[in-house]
Amino acid sequence: MFDTLSDRLNNVFDRLRGRGALNEQDVRDAMREVRVALLEADVALPVARDFIARVTERAVGQEVLKSVTPGQQVIKIVNDELVTMLGGEDASGEATPLNLDVKPPAVVMMVGLQGSGKTTSTAKIAKLLKDKNGKKALMASLDVNRPAAQEQLAILGEQAGVATLPIIQGQQPVDIARRALESARLQNVDVLLLDTAGRLHVDEALMAEMKAVAAVSEPAEVLLVVDSLTGQDAVNVAQSFTEEVPLTGVVLTRMDGDARGGAALSMRAVTGKPIKFAGTGEKLDAIERFHPARVADRILG
Ligand code: GDP
Repeated sequence: MFDTLSDRLNNVFDRLRGRGALNEQDVRDAMREVRVALLEADVALPVARDFIARVTERAVGQEVLKSVTPGQQVIKIVNDELVTMLGGEDASGEATPLNLDVKPPAVVMMVGLQGSGKTTSTAKIAKLLKDKNGKKALMASLDVNRPAAQEQLAILGEQAGVATLPIIQGQQPVDIARRALESARLQNVDVLLLDTAGRLHVDEALMAEMKAVAAVSEPAEVLLVVDSLTGQDAVNVAQSFTEEVPLTGVVLTRMDGDARGGAALSMRAVTGKPIKFAGTGEKLDAIERFHPARVADRILG
């Protein structure tokens, strides 16, 4: 993850650290290199520009340049701004939690394009909530388009030790959502995860179905699943979805194979939506809460 960016930034930082005094031009030169590194990592241009402007403004301040360790101070500023770029609300850079604090069952609606890793992520999050938070979870697949999508979720449910709604062939998504809610209430389920249908492209039929499901299920969370390997496309998909249904967060999958990291770095600034989870492999345990401060540490580490 972030391999190239990490190497590039560390080169710049090694040089900054190696110098005693720094002047404004040194900072501007270093920031030009950081900007190139961000763009090579596929960070959206306005996001990279803003980042550099913020770091430069703080770093050319007199206190920084006159300090005993100016290089170190500049690196600290880059770190802080990286945490902000990754979606850290404050200096702690904590992960943005799921809001499940509603009258149960709290509905988590999973949306996204086909192949993004939506079904796998549904099972991963259900398992995580069960194992780490002691929640009773139920999953239901509303994907009636893709053959065997509902069966796929049932198989993952068995592997994860999470119940799935029994399949009734021919039932339509909104009706499945209603039945899932009913069943969740009867079984005192804490969290109901709805795996909605995906398509190859954002289209009207997909959006209409998603809105209809949201209207009956009143989700506490609407999580968009996107593939980090698609870089800026992932950010554009998030933008299209959030114009139709208010997303509460993003699940970024395939972070394990993403050497560049552009989607992770641009998502918050472009869409305003926090990344809540990162998928890091095919196994059901391969998911992490997205913790901006830790991700920044990994990049600068
Ligand atoms: P869906 O069509 O969006 O429901 O996608 P699936 O959940 O079926 O996932 C498609 C493929 O991506 C499967 O082979 C998953 O195992 C794989 N996959 C999902 N998430 C990740 C991830 O975070 N890392 C890796 N390496 N593979 C993943």
